[in-house]
Amino acid sequence: MAGYHLHFISDDLSFGGHVMDYSITEGIIEIGAVDQLDQRFPIQDRKYLFAKFKAEEIREDIEQSE
Ligand SMILES: [Zn+2]
Repeated sequence: MAGYHLHFISDDLSFGGHVMDYSITEGIIEIGAVDQLDQRFPIQDRKYLFAKFKAEEIREDIEQSE
């Protein structure tokens, strides 16, 4: 996802992802500078490892989710 966008992470730090939409009535928002990103991929999953990614389909999925 290109451009300015938000991420979330679960309280137990076990999963996270993009925030696609939200409304908030109460809470704490923390903003900070990020100078590195550790991204992991499921390379033990052969289905993932040998998947044929099609750029056009990925672009369409991103547009649909936005
Ligand atoms: Zn992102």
